[in-house]
Amino acid sequence: RIVVVGSLNADLTIYCERLPQPGETVHGNGFAVNPGGKSANQAVAAGRLGGRVSLVGAVGDDPNGHMLLSSVAGAGVDVGLVRSSSEPTGVAVISVDAAGENNIIISAGANGTLSPADVAGAADVLDGAAVVSLCLEVAMPTVLAAAQAGHDAGAKVLLNLSPYAHIPRELAGLVDVLLVNAHEAALFLGPGASVPGADAHAAQWDAVRERFAERGIRQVLVTLGAHGSVVLDSDAPAGRAVVFVAPTKVDAVDTTGAGDAFTGAVAVRLAAGDALADAAAFASVAAALATTRKGTQAAYPETADVERRLRK
Ligand code: ADP
Repeated sequence: RIVVVGSLNADLTIYCERLPQPGETVHGNGFAVNPGGKSANQAVAAGRLGGRVSLVGAVGDDPNGHMLLSSVAGAGVDVGLVRSSSEPTGVAVISVDAAGENNIIISAGANGTLSPADVAGAADVLDGAAVVSLCLEVAMPTVLAAAQAGHDAGAKVLLNLSPYAHIPRELAGLVDVLLVNAHEAALFLGPGASVPGADAHAAQWDAVRERFAERGIRQVLVTLGAHGSVVLDSDAPAGRAVVFVAPTKVDAVDTTGAGDAFTGAVAVRLAAGDALADAAAFASVAAALATTRKGTQAAYPETADVERRLRK
């Protein structure tokens, strides 16, 4: 079983020609309310790909909460441990301009009430978990408690380091696989750090791997958007410590939630026993397909879609 512990948000998206400056009002040209939140997205991605998934979270007793529960449950995810809160459901207020550039403000709402006590209340499912998947849209003590529970159960603990925050050493020690985009990887490595491109020499990436390992993280998946991803594995046999995963070429129309699709797909393949690099190769296809349709959760592919693409 895959247990995802974390956030559910209603994405309130308004489209406009140009993002407003502070103090300015501009006309929008469309508005949508969609299910989102990194953890809900991860759970839906994994569920669509055939994973047995439980989501642990909190929503308000409001229309956004009901919409989220129905979207997540519709992907076959067990939502029995998504608690009802007296706080409103979390929201992300998103503005997107004509070039696809965006601004996002998140209000945690019910997500902010998810606590270590909720993790303790999920002990039964966590005990049977093969993979525990986490992100940083809920409070750090909650993330830490879930990582500890997953670790104690012998599960692989996945952490998507997003939205970026400094993580305590104790948490780094409990994480089996860290998932970062290039921006988060650079922030993790410290002031002034940057990460090489997808076309860089393996030696440059090996130096990055070394720096993650020094910080207690032995397996890292760095996603590079349309350029694919890189697997940094300090536990791999010699010659396999750095593996480049080529991008899957698609006509992307909406990359929102691609990282969450990637994480959910990695969770499914690791739970099925794949090696890390094989899981990343599968996830790369699943995440690319997710960008070919508008929307986030509604755009996530099923296993048959991924397999069809792999046979091409
Ligand atoms: P995030 O959404 O977290 O910033 P990325 O932009 O790195 O993460 O995207 C995550 C993964 O989604 C990439 O590693 C890649 O597999 C896939 N992906 C994203 N954008 C594209 C694209 N334009 N073409 C193909 N694959 C993409």
